[in-house]
Amino acid sequence: MINNYDKLTIVNIFMKQNKELKAWETEKKYIPIMIKKYCHHNHHTKRNELCSECQKLTEYALFRLSVCPFKKNKKFCSCCKIHCYQPPYKEQIRNVMKYSGPRMIFTHPIFAFKHVFQMISYKRKLKKTSHDR
Ligand SMILES: [Zn+2]
Repeated sequence: MINNYDKLTIVNIFMKQNKELKAWETEKKYIPIMIKKYCHHNHHTKRNELCSECQKLTEYALFRLSVCPFKKNKKFCSCCKIHCYQPPYKEQIRNVMKYSGPRMIFTHPIFAFKHVFQMISYKRKLKKTSHDR
């Protein structure tokens, strides 16, 4: 029998081995949460349920993540130089982020602040490189 403590240890070991993939795992975990939040409030689906459109979007987002060439030490997708989403998914995910992003501060503050800080440093970097040109 494996008790909860052992389970935690196993998870920790696993997490350590996959430190390079940690940000990628985080995004994989939170994107469906954000889409659910968006769907619930904008398409009036039940909590933790998805309309067919958002279901497709979730599958698409997870698929894009699974084939992401920057999995290792990944930054958030919004900081990526590629923006690999195809229309109309690009537009949809943008709406999801616009809606759910600020609301994540209340339900998942650590994740939300990480995101905010990463965006700030990313934008600063962009500014800097455009000055260098
Ligand atoms: Zn929906």
